[in-house]
Amino acid sequence: MTTTAIRGALLLTPEGEKQGDLLIQDDAIFSVGPAVRTADVEIDGAGMTASAGRVLPHAHLGRTLLTGDEHGCTSAERAQRERDLTLADAAHAYRSGMQALVSAGFTSVLTMASNAHAETALACAAEVGLRATIGIDLSDAAAATAHEWDTLLRLTREWHGAERGRLRIAIAPATHDAIPDALWADALDLAIRADALVHTHVTQAEGDAAVTHLDRIGALTRRTVLISDGALSPSATAAISHAGTTLVVGSDTTPTLARMLGPGPRFGTLRPGAKADVVVFEGTTARTVLVDGRSVGPAS
Ligand SMILES: [Zn+2]
Repeated sequence: MTTTAIRGALLLTPEGEKQGDLLIQDDAIFSVGPAVRTADVEIDGAGMTASAGRVLPHAHLGRTLLTGDEHGCTSAERAQRERDLTLADAAHAYRSGMQALVSAGFTSVLTMASNAHAETALACAAEVGLRATIGIDLSDAAAATAHEWDTLLRLTREWHGAERGRLRIAIAPATHDAIPDALWADALDLAIRADALVHTHVTQAEGDAAVTHLDRIGALTRRTVLISDGALSPSATAAISHAGTTLVVGSDTTPTLARMLGPGPRFGTLRPGAKADVVVFEGTTARTVLVDGRSVGPAS
């Protein structure tokens, strides 16, 4: 058993601010506030603020890190650019991008990888220590869908739940009509069997039609994370809420999503029993970032 004490910090808890010590035992928070006598790892929190790790509820790290602006090219051109990257360049991009997230106090991310370099994204998340739920795009050119599906099955078998549950796979049809309904059925079945998230998108413009379609094929589930580029109509929002689906609009985040990104005890809050994903800030600069109670940075 390893204990870590963060001493004398301002602790941001669900019940409000507390001044005191935070004690972590292995990968979980043990106490929030009471003075701690001794610990294996001592962190001086004087003048600092400790909070739960930040959750980035939606990112497409593959596209943004590997190919820059995804809007300047067609999806086929983008896919080709990604395939043209060397393994070393892809790894460098993922590693530095994920380290940048950690430096900003993020401990969890829901993201898409590049289909050509998904394995590299997972390996980098393992190395950096980030809690990451990573999907690949099931909507790539129709001819590639069978290949993407095989890749998804393999990644799920080999990576889902790796690193003591820190790494997870998301099933990610890009939109309601990106793949045929029959493949959606397979995707939802896989999500249930693997206990995996479904990551998909609706646009504000076609929100009602898209949500109705997703509802009809059974894709609005409690394990679905629906990303929208804007506020949806009241009826679409009501259907999503009724189904227990998580809706992410812009950079909004929810405790529900934070819980869905990892197994076991709740995390995303400073509470006894929660996963020890903790950030110690000096001002707005993250000085120490812990995931599962283990220091992951920031890289100096
Ligand atoms: Zn997305």
